[in-house]
Amino acid sequence: HSEDARAAQIPRYIRVNTAVWTVDEAVTEFLSRGYVLSGPFQSRKGFANDEHIPDLLLFPPHVHFADDPLYTSGKIILQDKASCFPACVLAPPAADDSVVIDATAAPGNKTSHLSALMSNRGKLFAFERDRKRFSTLKKMLAKAHCRNVEPVNADFLTVSPDDVKFRQVTHILLDPSCSGSGIVNRLDYLLEAETQNAEEDRQRLDKLASFQLLMIRHAMKFPSVRRIVYSTCSIHATENEHVVRQALQTEEALGAGFRLAPREQVLPQWKRRGISEEMNSPADAQSVVRCSPDEDATNGFFVSLFVRADETKNNMT
Ligand code: SAM
Repeated sequence: HSEDARAAQIPRYIRVNTAVWTVDEAVTEFLSRGYVLSGPFQSRKGFANDEHIPDLLLFPPHVHFADDPLYTSGKIILQDKASCFPACVLAPPAADDSVVIDATAAPGNKTSHLSALMSNRGKLFAFERDRKRFSTLKKMLAKAHCRNVEPVNADFLTVSPDDVKFRQVTHILLDPSCSGSGIVNRLDYLLEAETQNAEEDRQRLDKLASFQLLMIRHAMKFPSVRRIVYSTCSIHATENEHVVRQALQTEEALGAGFRLAPREQVLPQWKRRGISEEMNSPADAQSVVRCSPDEDATNGFFVSLFVRADETKNNMT
């Protein structure tokens, strides 16, 4: 079916910015506006809590919030469901001594999500190398009432893991540039992704994959890092399963003892997992999450979680 028809099947997702108010308070606000908790497709005034992401609400696709005071004041964030997965999977601790990195932050929806999950405590470094996108990021962070974020206009690959500032970093979110092939409600992005030339497309994906792998390897060099989320809005195995499979074989991963977190730690209730034939084992494929733009009412998306070998043990004791 057409892109428009696909987009019409996707509810309007809004993330409640829990840095400002609670999900219950948001629900009460929408009920007072005449909405009913009957689900986004039951009536024009229906809405629902999301079954996987606690701070996400679902509205009918025709509802627009771009001019709503809740949006302009930063109480709600307009964010696709799948793009809420990475921060939830990374699960940064809400503690005063938390130190977290968002390596590729602009426009900053995942940064503000991380900040909210940290209850605005500890420290969140948000890197963005593009100057224009960096200024968007700063605006977005101010609007979302983030107080624990330090935005840095720098290339993550030039950031020294041995810098004293980053010695205590335990959690890293990596959501690097990708082909964007999973995005269904931005036609321009799709057209850019696919040319008429298969060889050109393949080369472009290979180039992106090499860059994505470099970013993961760099993240693994931070001395205290225990959890790294790698995500893309691509549907191509080249940028997803293949990058993860290669990352596991690098000297950084083997040296520091990184492996994929088991399914139990990565949205276990979410049914769509990685493509088994594209990974080293069925268990590895189970460890990672995919979203299908055709079947999951989200954009196409991929999420993986690397953990240090002793991390699972710590979690179980
Ligand atoms: N996580 C963001 C969000 O949810 O709003 C979206 C991130 S977007 C997919 C990737 C971003 O990473 C782009 O803004 C790009 O400019 C930036 N980027 C790419 N390579 C980078 C690097 N080496 N260091 C820092 N930022 C980088």
